[in-house]
Amino acid sequence: MDEHSHSYIDLHCHLDLYPNPGEIVRRCREMNVKVLSVTTTPLAWEGTTALAKGNNTIVTALGLHPELAQKFKTSLSLFEELLPRAKFVGEVGLDGSKELQSSWHDQLYVFRKILQACRELGGRILSIHSRRAANAVLDEIENTPNAGIPVMHWFSGTREELARAIQLGCWFSVGPAMLMSSKGKSLVAQMPRERIITETDGPFVQLDNRTVFPWDVVSSLGVLSELWGIPSKESELIVESNSKSLLVQADTV
Ligand code: MN
Repeated sequence: MDEHSHSYIDLHCHLDLYPNPGEIVRRCREMNVKVLSVTTTPLAWEGTTALAKGNNTIVTALGLHPELAQKFKTSLSLFEELLPRAKFVGEVGLDGSKELQSSWHDQLYVFRKILQACRELGGRILSIHSRRAANAVLDEIENTPNAGIPVMHWFSGTREELARAIQLGCWFSVGPAMLMSSKGKSLVAQMPRERIITETDGPFVQLDNRTVFPWDVVSSLGVLSELWGIPSKESELIVESNSKSLLVQADTV
């Protein structure tokens, strides 16, 4: 089999934040790597969608990152204006880190508005940040039914929070940073196999002392194989079939 028999997917990558995004896009095409190109403010939407132009393996997500909620809450109206053009939403969510405490109310306001807008249009797939805020994120998901399919990105909550996320129908995108820690691995081992997809969170993650790239999802497939006790080719097929069934739901939007 040649390398093109592989179909890797990176469901959470900040392509626009690499110093050389055009080059990354070109190499993703060569290596048959599908990417969900998430954004951190609606102001980045135009430029980031331009990056994916003519390349149907790169899909852009409309986002407003919780770390930027305070500064960019005024761009919520732009978010709502652009949402009809975006089947994917991300990066959105809440961050309960100490240094972001002063923005918590703005974060909640922004995330709620986004979930409500998604519910009105229906059928969105959301890549969700929940660092130190898993239960708060899950409260919002529970309180806004039909906002779309939540994909928890780099989930780092407790086992109880994970059980709740599974019960609420969440999917999970898992990457090298998460799979390097034993806590992350044990969480992934508890996740339903049919709701796991790979991600990198590049360029914010380091792998082997260098910046991670979308094609590095292959390293996560290796760890998944170990966790599941199956050959790497099989975990690759599971993740590929999962991503197809998720993307099909976006195609119907
Ligand atoms: Mn991210």
